[in-house]
Amino acid sequence: MTGDVLTFTDKGIYCPSGDFYIDPWRPVPRALITHGHADHARAGHGSYLATDLAAPVLKFRLGNIPLQTVPYGQTVMVGSAAVSFHPAGHVPGSAQIRVEVGGEVWVVSGDYKTEDDGLSTAFVPLPCHAFISECTFGLPVFRWAQQTEIAAEISDWWKGCAAQGRTAVLGCYSLGKAQRLLSMLDPCQGPILCHAAIEGTNDVLRGQGLPLHQTTRATAEVSAKTHPGALLLAPPSAMAGTWLRRFGPVSTAFASGWMALRGVRRRRAADRGFIISDHADWSGLNTAIDATGAERVFVTHGYTDVFSRWLTSRGIDAQIVPTQFGEIEDDTQTPPQNEPSA
Ligand SMILES: [Zn+2]
Ligand SMILES: [Zn+2]
Repeated sequence: MTGDVLTFTDKGIYCPSGDFYIDPWRPVPRALITHGHADHARAGHGSYLATDLAAPVLKFRLGNIPLQTVPYGQTVMVGSAAVSFHPAGHVPGSAQIRVEVGGEVWVVSGDYKTEDDGLSTAFVPLPCHAFISECTFGLPVFRWAQQTEIAAEISDWWKGCAAQGRTAVLGCYSLGKAQRLLSMLDPCQGPILCHAAIEGTNDVLRGQGLPLHQTTRATAEVSAKTHPGALLLAPPSAMAGTWLRRFGPVSTAFASGWMALRGVRRRRAADRGFIISDHADWSGLNTAIDATGAERVFVTHGYTDVFSRWLTSRGIDAQIVPTQFGEIEDDTQTPPQNEPSA
């Protein structure tokens, strides 16, 4: 469609006026990046633009990339497009990207959540003509409890594990969720251990001033014997196999929005599931979209069919656009199409 601020191509979301892509999945000359999760930030682009808060993680994950940074809220001209990054509340440094051309404003949400997690800069709704939104959890069944409630549940579970002489092993994604969980836990309750993949990310974020508790890297010398009563944060990939043995006996849990679906809980074979996500739930998606005032909404990943039909029924011009977001890492590691509708 000529004249649109952004178009949808097989490489990613493209801005003709600025000749750049947003979170492209194929190599391009100029990429604007919303955040460091692997489905949004990929290697191989000619140049990168992201927030200064996202930069350390991007470099940690992608190496020495040609990266320019900009603080939240500052407008930069890219070609004839005015571009600015604004908090998305998803993970530390994550952004929505606002693009204005000739008075027409389009916003790309990236991944976002509306609850303030106290660690990521809180989501800011941006008035716009067109909003490009994720809808990972775009079904009414997804309703998140307050973070404080989940914190109490996790704390009780950890206490119970310690009383039984078990290590409490909590599966979570290494960027965002792990640090959020850390900030919710009381380090006086017992030792907190982190798998190397998580502790590496913790160190990067500590280095940029994020207030994270001291944690212990779960090196080969660290075990249930050296740290009885511990809580261990581990990425999903480390939850199966021999790595966990030295922490035994263990009790296992996952912290993910997908834990709201019984089928996923069962397949994960964890003892517990804590329903907490860095993506907006049903009401968060609706609140965020309403706040933009956008007459056009493009949904990129998640329950796009159901959610776009819902938006259409509410009088919004809603369309599904195919992307490769949500296919690797972060909460979307469990693709919705494989799940039973709950
Ligand atoms: Zn993400
Ligand atoms: Zn994503």
